[in-house]
Parts: sequence; structure tokens; C-alpha cells
Amino acid sequence: MKKSKSINKLKKEYWTVLSRYVRESSAIDGMVQCYTCGQVDLFTNMDLGHYWGRNYGATYFDVKNNLRIQCKHCNRFMEGNKPSFANRLLVELGADGLEKLEIKAKMKYHFDRFALEEGAKEYKRKLKKLRQ
Ligand SMILES: [Zn+2]
Repeated sequence: MKKSKSINKLKKEYWTVLSRYVRESSAIDGMVQCYTCGQVDLFTNMDLGHYWGRNYGATYFDVKNNLRIQCKHCNRFMEGNKPSFANRLLVELGADGLEKLEIKAKMKYHFDRFALEEGAKEYKRKLKKLRQ
């Protein structure tokens, strides 16, 4: 029997395709803007950053509320540039939305193998469609 992939491997596969899709679909002539500092660069040079970080399960793949395109500097060297991230999300989601996101982030959460596989498939389909 084929050994099934670990949850971490499935998370990584889903994340890779989701991050690629969000950045590629947002690009204009290949360029995107950092959410937290405004820098413009090729989408392949940018990250998809988490507001509530990777330790929070329920918001890990929440594209709508928790994930935004960031430059590597903000995402990796400024730990997500949280003050700027919070200010912009506050404008987008409102105080209520930001509070809901916090509650969601702090919920107890277990990644589900099936949901991770389906998520990855969905974003592979979206990416394929985007490139047609
Ligand atoms: Zn930045």
C-alpha cells in the first residue's frame, strides 16, 4: 500500500499552489504591490503573508481575511510588518471583522487531510483556468 502523505506535506502542497494563484491572479503585467509597505515587484519575488501567523490553524488558508501579498522584507524580516497589516485590515474588514478574525485564529483547529487535498485541487484548477 502506498504510504499516505503527512499532514505537513499536504499543508505545504496546498499552500504552494494557493500562494502562487493569489499572487499570479493579482499581477498586472507580472507586477504586484506589497500590502504593508507599497513596494512593487514581480509576483514571483513576493510572498503571500499571514496576518495571524502560521501557528494559527483556522486562519492558515483564509485568503479573504488573513492573507495578503507582501514583499519578502515585510514578511520575513519584519515578521509580517504587523502594525501596517493591522491598519490596512482594519480599513478593509472593520473593527468587527478584525475581531472575528482574531476569534477564528484562536479557535482550536485540526487540519483535515481531505480538506487539504481538496483545497489544493481547487487552486490547481483555478491556476489552470487563469492561464488559459
Ligand atoms: Zn513590504
